[in-house]
Amino acid sequence: MEHSLPGGAGGGAPREILGVENLEVLYASVILALKGVNLRVEEGKCTVLLGPNGAGKSTLLKAVSGVLAIDDGEVSAGSVRFEGRPITGSTALQTVAEGLIHVVEGRKVLRHLTVEQNLVVGGHLLPGQAAVKERLDFVFDTIPRLAQLRGRTSGYLSGGEQQQVLIGRAMVAKPRVVMVDEPSLGLAPKMIEEIFNLLGKLKDAGLSLLIVEQNAQAALGLADHGYVMEGGRVVLEGPASQLRDNEDIREFYLGMGGAGERKSYRE
Ligand code: ATP
Repeated sequence: MEHSLPGGAGGGAPREILGVENLEVLYASVILALKGVNLRVEEGKCTVLLGPNGAGKSTLLKAVSGVLAIDDGEVSAGSVRFEGRPITGSTALQTVAEGLIHVVEGRKVLRHLTVEQNLVVGGHLLPGQAAVKERLDFVFDTIPRLAQLRGRTSGYLSGGEQQQVLIGRAMVAKPRVVMVDEPSLGLAPKMIEEIFNLLGKLKDAGLSLLIVEQNAQAALGLADHGYVMEGGRVVLEGPASQLRDNEDIREFYLGMGGAGERKSYRE
């Protein structure tokens, strides 16, 4: 059953930029990985998707961005809207052209290419070299570390630097929405902070974000709104501030028991 926290949806209704309705996803025609998911990303806001392994978080991003077919997956019911238009079943190329970019899990930089070459790839749908150059300048201004690293081979960078390359590459495409899958995975606390600061800077510049994270602490620090998924369903949603105060979230995702002692999710 899905619970809404008070103060969640409704009220002054900021504009929806991405909407998912009753979405179902099947893998290999038999494995039902999403069982009717509803989710909304508001313009200029950060929405976070929390939940344990196997909850369906990555599947949701893949269904939205059009890369499910690579994994033999398909949307079997429901719909996806982007800026009010139906995009259900769009290909990855179509969603990128719409301004919706998916930074997939696992830090997939083009390892043999330089940082700058990786960034240029992100501009493959831009109308010409001048447009690509303009976006590269924006990315180098916004992420100065990438300007320093521009001639370096991407495969030899640290995990945090590679994550910056991927976020930078997404930004070259001039996106309206960026979906990032597990940006903090395997990074040291200092680098996690840097990555979330960068995402915050992009949000301040007007970008809408949908972030999948296991690190609820970092994610809820940035997010405006959050969803918790389990077993292919949304089981809880609400404003990030209220999720931070929610007992279950504190216990299972922030590692804090009622008396303030540390608890793991498994416990
Ligand atoms: P994680 O944090 O581990 O990535 P997740 O919440 O992102 O977890 P998904 O990767 O979306 O979860 O997986 C949701 C369900 O779909 C799981 O039961 C998983 O085993 C199944 N699944 C994912 N990919 C495939 C696939 N290619 N073929 C079959 N089943 C899959």
